[in-house]
Parts: sequence; C-alpha cells; structure tokens
Amino acid sequence: MTQLPEKHIAVLGSTGSIGRQTLEVCRSLGIRPVALTAHSNTELLAAQAREFLPRLVVVTEESLASSLKIALADTPVEVASGPQALEEAATLPDADTVVGAIVGVAGLAPVLAAAKAGKTIALANKEPLVSAGALVTAAVKEHGARLLPVDSEHSAIFQCLHAGETRDVAGVLLTASGGPFFGKSREELASVTVADALKHPNWVMGAKITVDSATLMNKGLELIEAMWLFDLTPDQIEIVVHRQSIVHSGVVFADGSLVAQMGLPDMRSAIQYALTYPRRYPVEGMSKLSLTQIGSLSFATPDRSTFACLAACEAAARKGGLYPAAVNGANEGAVALFLEGKLPFLQIGELVQGAVEALRLPGEVTLAALLEADAAGREYVRQFHK
Ligand code: NDP
Ligand code: MG
Repeated sequence: MTQLPEKHIAVLGSTGSIGRQTLEVCRSLGIRPVALTAHSNTELLAAQAREFLPRLVVVTEESLASSLKIALADTPVEVASGPQALEEAATLPDADTVVGAIVGVAGLAPVLAAAKAGKTIALANKEPLVSAGALVTAAVKEHGARLLPVDSEHSAIFQCLHAGETRDVAGVLLTASGGPFFGKSREELASVTVADALKHPNWVMGAKITVDSATLMNKGLELIEAMWLFDLTPDQIEIVVHRQSIVHSGVVFADGSLVAQMGLPDMRSAIQYALTYPRRYPVEGMSKLSLTQIGSLSFATPDRSTFACLAACEAAARKGGLYPAAVNGANEGAVALFLEGKLPFLQIGELVQGAVEALRLPGEVTLAALLEADAAGREYVRQFHK
C-alpha cells in the first residue's frame, strides 16, 4: 500500500461505476472517505459504509433511509437522506476533496454546494458543468475552490497543459472511441437494442454514459465540458475518433506541437491522478502500456449526420446561454426512455437535435432559468417521442 499525505474525501455517487473505482483507489492508497452517497443502492452503500466507516452516508431516495439506518445501526456511521443531506455530504468541513460521481444533472446542487464551500472537486459528473458551466465555474472562482477533471479526456488535456503556458494554447484534440456503432449507417442502426447499445468496446461504465457513448452524445457533452474547464471556444476543439482509446486527448500549442497523453483505458488512472495531483503513484494491478503490442493507432472524423447528438451539442455550444442545459435535459429524458425500451435508438439523436432547433431560450443564465431550460428539453422529448 502506498502512503500519501492525509486526504479527506467525500464520494458523491460511491455506488456507481466511477464511485466504486474511486473506492478501489482509496483502498490502494489508504484513504478513508468521510462521506459516501447513493441514490437507491442501499445494499452496496451499507457494505461500503461497513468497510470504510465514514462519518456520514446519504441515500437520496428518502423512502430507503430507514432500512439503511437499520443496516448500519451497530456502527458509528450517521445516516441521512434527501437532497439537503447530499449537499451536507458535499460540504462537510472535514473533507477537503469532493469526488463528483453522480450521474446526470442530479449532481448539480451538490457540485455547486462543494464549489461554494471552497472544496477541491474531482469531477467525473460532467452534466452539471454542461448545463450550468457558467455558474459552477463562477462559484469555483469566487470561493477559491478547484476543479480537477476525472473524465479521462479532460484529465489528459489537464496533464498536457503542463507542457506549456496557457497563453500558448491553440486548441485541444478530444478523442472519441466511437462507441459500439462506429461506421454503421442509419439503416443499420434502425433496429439496435438496449443490449447492443450497452456493449461498449473499450470501457465498462454506468448505463447512461454507455448509451451516450453509443450516440456520441458523450463527446458532445465533453466538448462543452472542455469549454468550461479550459476556457475554449468550440472551434478550438477538434473531435477525432480513435478506436483504441489509448490517446486520451491532447493539447495543440501555438507552434503546432500536439502534446498528447496516452495510457490504457482504465478510469482508475484519471481518478487517482485527481486525488494525488500533482504527485503520481502506481495504479494497483494496472498493466504496462505496450505500444508494440497495440501495433497501430487509428484516427478518423466522426459522422455527424448519423450521430446527430454530436451535431446537436455543437449547435448548443455555439448558441450558448441556456441551450447546453436544454440539450442535456433532452438527452437525459431520451436516454431514460430508450433504457426503458420506449424509444428507438435513432430517435435519441433526432429528438435531442429537434430540441436545440425548436426551443426558444433567450433568457439570462440564472440557476432557475437553467433548470427551466433543462425541463424544457425533457418536455420536448416527452411530447414528441412516438
Ligand atoms: P453510474 O450510473 O454507474 O453511477 C451513478 C451514481 O450516482 C450511483 O452512485 C447512483 O446511485 C448515483 N445516482 C443516480 N441518480 C442519482 C440521483 N438522482 N441523485 C443522487 N445520486 C444519484 O454512473 P457512472 O459512474 O458511470 O457515471 C457517473 C458520472 O461520471 C456521469 O456523469 C458520467 O458521465 C461520468 N463519467 C463516467 C465514466 C465511467 O467510466 N463510468 C467516465 C467518465 C465520466 P445508485 O447506485 O444508488 O443508483
Ligand atoms: Mg470521457
């Protein structure tokens, strides 16, 4: 076990794919989280609580609080429930770092609360930054908080930025695996099932982001995420399909040099880097990257007409204001319907793009207006899905 300077972390969404991998990193680095949260998986949350004995566990689904309390009655762990408790976990005075691993815009309130409490936020949960990037980054600045990216592409960009000065950044290269349907035509995608969409070639992730990877929505969300994290315009971000997921992304400097970061596709690297930054430690059990074993790396242009979600995000990014919140809301609504078997795969892109084109959202960017734009996106999808 590697010993690093004492770290006090709260893990929001500890039962998810990123949350569980964060706890793996905690185990190998000897970190004991002070708070863990879940939405409904109380069985796993209770097991995690027994192992790490955090000060606080939160289940957002209030009806499950009493069973969790009973499960942890013989431990010193405090159990709380509901949205307010989630914010409490995000702002605990005894945590210096908050890992944002909730899925969707549901993570916005706790991420904002963590920013206002001046925390270091290791952020995987991209949707809050997509929807409310202006508010989150303003709160980070105002309260002396810090955002450290966990999303692998953004971690790569963050790492590559260390090779030069911010004023010399010309743009970034954002790589995309292309998901399970790369190269397929609209006709071929007409009959794909939920099971097909959940088979990602390189990464094992939660259901929502796996569908987002299949539609290329994930890359569109990541474009907007990169704009906020690194102060870039959409034109400075080149999206390239790279099937092997070895080049995690890179930075293009003024002299034309592209500095890229490579590694095996294992989220624990990016999670651990955000927790130990600026130090680097071995990632337990991770094999060495062998370029000769991989042999060749390929790069291609994404197909924006088949994968309409990417085009929709690019349009929303250019329109700015409330549009990113609407495009994200429309997608969250559409993916939920798709996962319930109520929406064909191709309709996700059609509806997400339709929402960006049809909605009129001229308002000022306030939290209330962003939440309304999110709701308008969801409502558009609900009304128009056949
Ligand atoms: P999962 O679906 O695996 O986990 C989501 C977590 O959030 C779970 O702990 C879940 O609790 C909790 N949760 C779900 N809904 C709510 C809610 N309404 N309120 C509070 N908590 C909730 O997602 P991932 O771990 O795959 O992804 C998490 C975030 O990280 C996403 O934003 C994703 O885009 C991003 N990301 C993920 C990557 C990955 O490899 N998985 C890579 C890069 C980014 P419960 O288990 O009880 O449902
Ligand atoms: Mg990513």
